[in-house]
Amino acid sequence: MQAKFEEYAKLLVEVGVNIQKGQNLVISCPVDCAWFARLCAKAAYAAGCREVIMNWGDELLGREKYLHAADDVFDSVPEWRVRFSTDYARGGAAFLHIAGSDPEILKGVDQDRLVRSARSSGEAMKEYRQLQMSNAVPWSIGAIPVPSWAKKVFPGVSEEEAVNKLWDAIFTSVRVSGDGTAVQRWKEHLDTLQIRIDKLNDLRLESLHYTNSLGTDLTIRLPEDHIWGGGDGTSKAGIHFIANMPTEEIFTAPLKNGIDGVVYSAMPLVLSGDLVDKFHFVIKEGKIVEVHAEVGEAKLKAETTLDEGASYFGEVALVPYDSPIRNQELLFYNTLFDENAACHLAFGEAYSECIKGGADMSKEELKAHGLNDSITHVDFMVGTADLSITGKTHDGREVPIFVNGNFAL
Ligand code: ZN
Ligand code: ZN
Repeated sequence: MQAKFEEYAKLLVEVGVNIQKGQNLVISCPVDCAWFARLCAKAAYAAGCREVIMNWGDELLGREKYLHAADDVFDSVPEWRVRFSTDYARGGAAFLHIAGSDPEILKGVDQDRLVRSARSSGEAMKEYRQLQMSNAVPWSIGAIPVPSWAKKVFPGVSEEEAVNKLWDAIFTSVRVSGDGTAVQRWKEHLDTLQIRIDKLNDLRLESLHYTNSLGTDLTIRLPEDHIWGGGDGTSKAGIHFIANMPTEEIFTAPLKNGIDGVVYSAMPLVLSGDLVDKFHFVIKEGKIVEVHAEVGEAKLKAETTLDEGASYFGEVALVPYDSPIRNQELLFYNTLFDENAACHLAFGEAYSECIKGGADMSKEELKAHGLNDSITHVDFMVGTADLSITGKTHDGREVPIFVNGNFAL
């Protein structure tokens, strides 16, 4: 196990954020997982990192705050909090987020407090978010088991066994076997993704048409100058990094007003601790006009109305049904894994890198190119074993992109 922990820490630091000599590294980590943050810090210093700066979190304290803090706490973010992230980002630091949380930690918390908190932090952290969304700084998210999360994924076994099983599932997902070959495996994986990305970009598709037996029948038009991306990103300083580990997806942005039809969720979604399940959206000219969910409908409605852009879409992502994550037949209750198990869409903000020259465009220019803007971005799964996606080119040619849940390209 120790060899795997060290290989994983090295992978996150050297391939995930790809730390450079003399660069600062900000690590966010649950305080209960300090031992793993220390492994990452060690790996970072070994690679020449200037300083590791810690941003500790504790979700149990977070829950206490939502339950008992004064009501006005949720309407603003203190300046020092904003500057912590923004200043380090402006200075070119890399950001490693080690995520591990109880998917139901915020259950029973006042919805209004959560919405106000999301809104004020979205507003306050705008600059940092924009630096992150435009890949100005290298950043990466990796996951670590905490007992509450492990017990949710593996109910019915002891806490210790659940944590070990979740570690194994994470290692399988991120291609870590403890033999020191993870970096090489990631190279091969990224090459496979790149071949498909190139094919999709060569097609210059006008639209995609999704259908499956759940009832999904959705047409998604793409911006003229859209770009498919995935695998690794490149920061403004030219550093390759991988924003999400694992990552299996190839994605682009939809045309804000160009989506019509019905789309059904293929997997449950966890929204700040609340489970939303068996839901579908009716979409007209890009806007979600109907929200139906058998579980968590109010929560989903609140999320899609956080701001104007929350009821429009920001991402179209392709993931083969036959993937190392979905093949484990697990529901991780964590978007980082579950989104890499299946094709997904996201409502909310689009990534500016999804159109040509987008990283250097202003909000207004991005809007003019048809990209959605919002303080939120929520991925939900739509991929099933029988999903088919047909692409249409500008000259009216139809191209099978997905057949029976997997790439046809
Ligand atoms: Zn995605
Ligand atoms: Zn997304």
